[in-house]
Amino acid sequence: MTSGIGATVLGYPRIGPRRELKRAVESYWAGRSDADTLHAAARDLRVATWLELRDAGLDSVPSNTFSFYDQVLDTAFLVGAVPDRYRRSSALDTYFAAARGDADAPPLELTKWFDTNYHYLVPEIDSSTEFRLADDKPLAEYREARAAGVPTRPVLLGPVTFLLLAKGSADPLSRLDALLDVYVELLGALAAEGVEWVQFDEPAFAMDRDVAELAALGRAYTRLGAVAARPKLLVTGYYGSLGAALPVLAATAVEAIGVDLVAGTIEGIASVPALRDKTLVAGVVDGRNVWRTDLRKAVATAASLLGSAAEVVVSTSSTLLHVPYDLDVETSLAPEVSARLAFARQKVAEVVTLDRALRSGVPLPELPVVEPRRDEEVRFRLAGVKDRSRAPYAARVVAQKALNLPPLATTTIGSFPQTAEIRAARSLPSDEYTARMRAEIARVIALQEDIGLDVLVHGEPERNDMVQYFAEHLEGFATTRLGWVQSYGSRCVRPPILHGDVSRPAPITVPWTAYAQSLTSRPVKGMLTGPVTILAWSFVRDDQPLGETADQVALALRDEIADLEAAGTRIVQVDEPALRELLPLRAVDHPAYLEWSVDAFRLATSGASARTQVHTHLCYSEFGEVISAIDGLGADVTTIEAARSKMEILDDLRASGFSRGVGPGVYDIHSPRVPAVGELTELIKAALAVVPGDRLWVNPDCGLKTRAYAEVEPALRAMVAAAREVRLG
Ligand code: GLN
Ligand code: ZN
Repeated sequence: MTSGIGATVLGYPRIGPRRELKRAVESYWAGRSDADTLHAAARDLRVATWLELRDAGLDSVPSNTFSFYDQVLDTAFLVGAVPDRYRRSSALDTYFAAARGDADAPPLELTKWFDTNYHYLVPEIDSSTEFRLADDKPLAEYREARAAGVPTRPVLLGPVTFLLLAKGSADPLSRLDALLDVYVELLGALAAEGVEWVQFDEPAFAMDRDVAELAALGRAYTRLGAVAARPKLLVTGYYGSLGAALPVLAATAVEAIGVDLVAGTIEGIASVPALRDKTLVAGVVDGRNVWRTDLRKAVATAASLLGSAAEVVVSTSSTLLHVPYDLDVETSLAPEVSARLAFARQKVAEVVTLDRALRSGVPLPELPVVEPRRDEEVRFRLAGVKDRSRAPYAARVVAQKALNLPPLATTTIGSFPQTAEIRAARSLPSDEYTARMRAEIARVIALQEDIGLDVLVHGEPERNDMVQYFAEHLEGFATTRLGWVQSYGSRCVRPPILHGDVSRPAPITVPWTAYAQSLTSRPVKGMLTGPVTILAWSFVRDDQPLGETADQVALALRDEIADLEAAGTRIVQVDEPALRELLPLRAVDHPAYLEWSVDAFRLATSGASARTQVHTHLCYSEFGEVISAIDGLGADVTTIEAARSKMEILDDLRASGFSRGVGPGVYDIHSPRVPAVGELTELIKAALAVVPGDRLWVNPDCGLKTRAYAEVEPALRAMVAAAREVRLG
């Protein structure tokens, strides 16, 4: 049975090639435009996407991949699962109230989407949630596309993944049957409209799942497959292999299954006999990264599955949401770099080319092979690294006594407010820019001395972004002009592209840090972004193991630390906020990841003398699964987000055997609220019950760059006052 889905992609960027959607929603939020204007802008973007995908030659074009904010929130709206506290006068305002919060209610919780840099809004589902078909977005977009001449394939978040992502119930899957009633009704409505194919995304099954969860998946698609009049069903599981979920899905009546053959493996697919009468949608074009596909290899992979399914068609490994729109507008990229790249538009063309080659024997084009930049010196030096350890901690503690720090030493995480003046100064001529930055550093140093902080920072005014800044100063990276990808809602990021061997042509942070240190007798911390975080927030070459690439970045940081020391820096901080973020989805892959990530940090920092105090900073997460790795980093001081979890992290750290310096954040910098001295002293005392005062640091949860001085100054004064009060006992 061939079912005719043909070449397709699993999803597409939606923010607009020039971030049109960002501008449209932000102008609506600011009250500068009305709902009709916003809807018109959204429709234009959707129609342009459908026409582009059809004209590129895809056989099946996805729809309902558009979103005003987030596809998980869209799903909550679709099934009537939006908490009552968000009801506003229009559906659009209800939607944005849940997404962003307003004066009456804080927003839904925002959290990371699998192992990507995208963030979704966490649905709140409990036993009282009354599911109903409450929205017609998938139908409306289908009609809109058909009117534009493109009959599409609506894409829906699968019911099981939706429930597994929700919070509010100890057993979310107990609500599956009630939720399926809504999906059944929706399938009927889509069929009545003439929809031929529907796609359900179940990425939750690229993670380890227990027997009950796998059974729920089987139950869901058995039920949806049994709907009498329904479109054909494609179920995808991406960001990795479906593993044990594949035979479960294959045993249901769904017509097609999409497998991720880039992050996932081909292993095991051929041994699922029930696939033989289904269409296999082979995700051989990387939906997550920006590299051109090795066409021959991709066709060979897809072809090797030909006997395993009734039909094999070519697709992307995941939605293309995570890559920029179009390489062709990046005219300033070096040709030898752009020759290796493919963004969303180019990936669609690759899918079409591959599908024609696979199913119609159309010959593949011959493309020149371009090798990545190679740096023999970096490779030679890395091959010679034998030891990544420092002097024993006890010896370092003695050597660092020279810093003369009090117990409960106070510090900040690095950045000070990035004011409009600082951002405006970036377009000044170089001399003037440097003068402005130095003036800012002098101001921030004087302020910190006045507040009475013990360890100062230069404030990071020269950094647009903690990763892009380093990418711009290292060889082996490229940055794009319009390579925006959605991070959450209207927020977009432009990840650097780490394309070749990494090296450091010149010191990066040394002049700023040395200048700051020249202004004060108190120690100024040198601030660096760690190798794992630099990788996590970039598009990284995939032609060698991540650990090797991380080591190259680490070597550049190691040299930077040596130069900082030579310039008189006595404390350096290597930030690794993304350590948890890159943790692989499946537990079998954790040990290898933790090994290379910890090793890279140690390579970066182990050249530091025993007298140099090495700090690290971690945030954005539950640290449970990486807690032993935090110890492995070996930093003298670890500052860590803790205020929102009421310092519970300290118990976890202690249980893991951690016994070096630690600075649990005493206040949450995500809120403009200024903490009272009394509440801070309570938190510090609670921490003192777990960590002795000479190892306990007092600091905020994270950097201050998004805050205003009106909050930062009183908050830091309160923090210093609290530390002094507790010191006196
Ligand atoms: N040093 C950085 C800053 O203060 C750390 C940022 C982060 O943890 N994300 O901005
Ligand atoms: Zn942080």
